[in-house]
Amino acid sequence: MLEVKHLVVNYRGLMAVDNISFCLLPGEIVGIIGPNGAGKSTLLRAILGLIPLEKGIVQFHSRTLSGQLKQVAYIPQRAQIDWDYPITVENVAMMARIRHTGLFCSYSRQSKLIVKNALERVGMWELKHRPIGELSGGQQQRVFLAQALAQEADLFLFDEPFVGVDKKTEAMLFEVFDELKSEGKILLVVGHELRETMREYDRFLLINKTLIADGTRQEVITATNIQKAYGDNVIFLQGNAKND
Ligand code: ADP
Ligand code: MG
Repeated sequence: MLEVKHLVVNYRGLMAVDNISFCLLPGEIVGIIGPNGAGKSTLLRAILGLIPLEKGIVQFHSRTLSGQLKQVAYIPQRAQIDWDYPITVENVAMMARIRHTGLFCSYSRQSKLIVKNALERVGMWELKHRPIGELSGGQQQRVFLAQALAQEADLFLFDEPFVGVDKKTEAMLFEVFDELKSEGKILLVVGHELRETMREYDRFLLINKTLIADGTRQEVITATNIQKAYGDNVIFLQGNAKND
């Protein structure tokens, strides 16, 4: 179980996460939704201990999460990654094994096999020698998914994994999410828009600095909650109608 209690993050006076608490259980796929700048990425990074907390604690199986990061796979927003870094598909996935083998030890045969299986699972083994920067958005996201799988973590944090990916990758991500769920893993996924794929999630956290609602899709996606989170700017709810 992941327990987040009274999390507060303050960027030099700007309150980004304001007293957020929730608990996640094994086998749950939970979506974090909320407008741009709501603090979704900050919340994930705070859970991981990548930014200092002003207040709050994060525990996994009743112990501080920061002491057991081997159990956590984090897939950041694609925009946060340096795509010019000259690294191959295979080595991106291999990075997941560093925590298992240590930085200066060579990868074990077992690690190599785990990475091969993960890349095959997402259909990227054939492109293993390609530099990551040469791939399409969807292919890159699948490589990061393989990296997460190769880590053999128990908790998965995805930040907007569906942005800039093709339909095939989207379907593959949900397939893998379902498998991880059935293995009792916990998945926390930042979504970027309110749309039909929402039915894939068990539960939603709607945030805008504070936690506005926590529950099933029916409980969370109500006119009142959406108004609270997005204000009057709710073009998302009209599907793809945009502004025309
Ligand atoms: P979201 O992921 O929901 O779009 P973020 O967590 O990226 O939101 O940002 C939340 C707020 O914190 C925004 O107002 C953003 O400008 C601010 N912020 C994000 N990262 C930093 C940072 N490193 N330093 C200062 N302010 C930041
Ligand atoms: Mg973000």
